[in-house]
Amino acid sequence: MTSDIVGPVDATKYPRYTEPSTFARLPRISDVPGADVCIVGVPFDSGVSYRPGARFGPSHVRAASKLLRPFNPALGVEPFASRQVADCGDIAANPFNLDEAIATIDGAITDLRKDGSTVLTIGGDHTIALPILRSLARDHGKIAVLHFDAHLDTWDTYFEAPYTHGTPFRRASEEGLIDMERSLHMGIRGPLYSRTDLEDDAVLGFQVIRSDDYEFDGVASIVERMRGRLDGGPVYVSVDIDVLDPAHAPGTGTPEAGGLTSRELLNSLRGLVGLDIVGADIVEVAPAYDHAEITGIAAAHVGYELLSVLAANS
Ligand code: MN
Ligand code: MN
Repeated sequence: MTSDIVGPVDATKYPRYTEPSTFARLPRISDVPGADVCIVGVPFDSGVSYRPGARFGPSHVRAASKLLRPFNPALGVEPFASRQVADCGDIAANPFNLDEAIATIDGAITDLRKDGSTVLTIGGDHTIALPILRSLARDHGKIAVLHFDAHLDTWDTYFEAPYTHGTPFRRASEEGLIDMERSLHMGIRGPLYSRTDLEDDAVLGFQVIRSDDYEFDGVASIVERMRGRLDGGPVYVSVDIDVLDPAHAPGTGTPEAGGLTSRELLNSLRGLVGLDIVGADIVEVAPAYDHAEITGIAAAHVGYELLSVLAANS
């Protein structure tokens, strides 16, 4: 019942910088009977290959989300009014044992979803997408992965380790979790290890929309291609904040020049209205390299647009 929904703290009565941070100043899960949409943090970065620090992403994104407001004029929706949205805290993943951490994340996401909640996860490094997909695939079958990232994240191993932040989507494809006819990378750019990286990636079930395509084709054309690829079944949205240009997201572990603007990313996400979004993540925010909350604010707005899409679809 809409009248029972608890929304964000009223910023006209409580200044935005009061109280410990929840995402968008939403209620904690302990303060409401249940949630249709859960926001959960995974402060985990034991899978990173370069700059560490994404374990501090969830708290940074929450702190940078205090200025979000209840009405989204771009989509004409109130993301926190039509269904109960709550901050479900953090998943305590073991920083010293990657296999155990992956199992913990899978179990915790499954638990959050058991009453039908949709989960928006804030990472953490990109390793966490694999256990989330494992959990979702048990209920939904093969899922289209819409993956915003500078990087393919379909490499095989690093130092012979199969589970890293550069390998989750190869493992997901090998395990049969993803719909190989409907998955898509967005914003890919930068140097690769070899020209065969792209050939291998295609075999794993992904099409690629490059960062440069935004310049050459424009957002409207890209949204049309994206929707054409994703239509017809469940979709998981994974947003590595390094899809943004370092000018728009300096606070991340593996920055690459030549990326999207935050405006291009937000408009791409708005193009998801009407698709069957079954879950999403925002990963790789590493606040130690951030300045003036630039990256945190971008990530908070990514979360806001994803929640707005879920509200528009409900
Ligand atoms: Mn990346
Ligand atoms: Mn990534």
